[in-house]
Amino acid sequence: MQILHTVDELRAWSRGLRCKGAGMIGLVPTMGALHEGHASLIRAAEQQCRGRVAVSIFVNPTQFGPNEDFARYPRTFGADCEIAERAGANVIFAPGVEEMYPAGAATFVDVEGLSERLDGQSRPGHFRGVATVVAKLLIAAEPDLAFFGQKDAAQVAVLRKLVADLRLGTRLVVCPIVREPDGLAMSSRNVYLSAEERKQALALCRAVRCVEQMRSNGQRAAPSLVEAARKIFAEEPAVRVDYVELVNWETLLPTNTAGPGTLFAVAAWVGDTRLIDNTILK
Ligand code: AMP
Repeated sequence: MQILHTVDELRAWSRGLRCKGAGMIGLVPTMGALHEGHASLIRAAEQQCRGRVAVSIFVNPTQFGPNEDFARYPRTFGADCEIAERAGANVIFAPGVEEMYPAGAATFVDVEGLSERLDGQSRPGHFRGVATVVAKLLIAAEPDLAFFGQKDAAQVAVLRKLVADLRLGTRLVVCPIVREPDGLAMSSRNVYLSAEERKQALALCRAVRCVEQMRSNGQRAAPSLVEAARKIFAEEPAVRVDYVELVNWETLLPTNTAGPGTLFAVAAWVGDTRLIDNTILK
């Protein structure tokens, strides 16, 4: 497995493969602190793009707000390389901040509308940072396929629009949420949780499961589904709800009825840690 640090090296790797002909190139963008959720994306990439899989590891400063956890975000590069290689990565792209944002960089990508919804509402500027860094990665690597987790469902909506609007030639592949055995969605931020908070955090997946259950029992009315989820959070008062929403997965706008493909999404603070979870309703 090669480790690359510059955009030129990543571009040369991709163009070299392109010149050799057949076979799709896959990219898995991450912020590192890799866990089984990331590994599942890399394995999915390996299945479709064997021998041509790049994993980027970059803690992107522009997607963090001034009072967020950029400085303390877990950085575990050695372990990440082992996980990525075992899952089938051929290249790790690990640029420094100055490589992705050269001095004086003034160009940003804003997906208007979508960027202000769900996480974008409580984290102003977050999706601008995400869209900018993913655009840079896609332009550099020119992958046929880029792999993302449904775990960040609002991010997926923003990036689908980005790729469509900029006519980038990459297809996004969305992989299912990987969970701990007790249901907690895996996240690099779970390491922040104390033992007590770890238990409280289960409120998020309980809310998701409750809504899935109600939906499969035939309940389609958004207010009833949202209210039931809020009741579950009310039973865990240490958890502070950020949002509980039923939205159209493409527009991220609220919907009154849960139809196929509707996104039910939650975000909540457990202590100082902000967690998210969701389900795409059947
Ligand atoms: P991050 O490193 O948190 O930016 O995540 C990188 C990619 O991994 C994103 O596409 C995430 O949606 C995805 N991801 C993170 N956690 C999970 C999970 N538990 N299951 C599936 N994909 C995940």
